[in-house]
Amino acid sequence: MADGSNLDTINAALSATQKLRASVTRVFTHLKDGVKSTKGEVTKEGVFVSELKKGLSGVNDDFSELEKLTSSLQKFTDTIPMGNSGLLSLDPVQDKTPLYTQLLQSYKWSSKVQTHSSLASSMLTQNSLKRTTVATGLSAKRKKLTPTSHAVPSHLVDAIVANLDRLFNDMSITVNRPKGAGAVLQVTVGRTLSAIVVLRGLLIERVVVRGYHENSHKDDGQLDLWTPSRYQVFQKLTDHAMAAMLHYHLPHLPEIAIKSFMTWLHSYTTLFSTPCHRCGKYLNNNLPPTWRDFRTLDVTHDNCRQ
Ligand SMILES: [Zn+2]
Repeated sequence: MADGSNLDTINAALSATQKLRASVTRVFTHLKDGVKSTKGEVTKEGVFVSELKKGLSGVNDDFSELEKLTSSLQKFTDTIPMGNSGLLSLDPVQDKTPLYTQLLQSYKWSSKVQTHSSLASSMLTQNSLKRTTVATGLSAKRKKLTPTSHAVPSHLVDAIVANLDRLFNDMSITVNRPKGAGAVLQVTVGRTLSAIVVLRGLLIERVVVRGYHENSHKDDGQLDLWTPSRYQVFQKLTDHAMAAMLHYHLPHLPEIAIKSFMTWLHSYTTLFSTPCHRCGKYLNNNLPPTWRDFRTLDVTHDNCRQ
């Protein structure tokens, strides 16, 4: 920062002030004492005047030096990036109201945060797992890779879902198309659970898991996309399903993503009949083993995860 050069200027200005005071004092001492010379009056006067001239030009030199330093110091205070808050530094009681130092600290911190966040953002834009395409100066080459899985025609979605429906015997998937929305899948897994999977093209946007016997329609007969399950176990499954949705997200291979998700969801057929593989118990905190590992589909309680 420019603090160092400012200090140097102040130091130089201080010594210039001392010099100026010394030369002024010299002039006044000279005026007071006169010239101690025993030569004739004319020479004495001449010496006095020439000495005075010399003293005055010294004062002039010192003064212009100080002036120069002051103007350069002025230039710096003009460019304090904190605007009027920079004036807080003029507070003479720094010990009692350390506002200025605190302000400098927070200023430093915020610029650090800015640096780190810009680094993080540049790293995140390289992450292929992002769900939305942000046009932040992407090159033409990368723009070609823009995922289009959110804009898949509906007959293609229907065909893919029909394939998924045939994937497992004890899992059925039906497609609904409520007004103003994309496809909404109603998935039942065995006689265990019923899930609402909201799609945008082939991207999974939202999942709600409810019990098999819970009502998944609103009073007016429309599919209920929002109300969470009454039961804690299915609320937990909803959380896990949202995590799975993000985990399996593959913008360039949406078919594989949705298939992996459905395979993972299907593993819950045994939700109430398989004990935890870690602790061997069925219940923990009155909940069955609600966690299925994303890769191995290993069955554990949420608390027994590692
Ligand atoms: Zn367990």
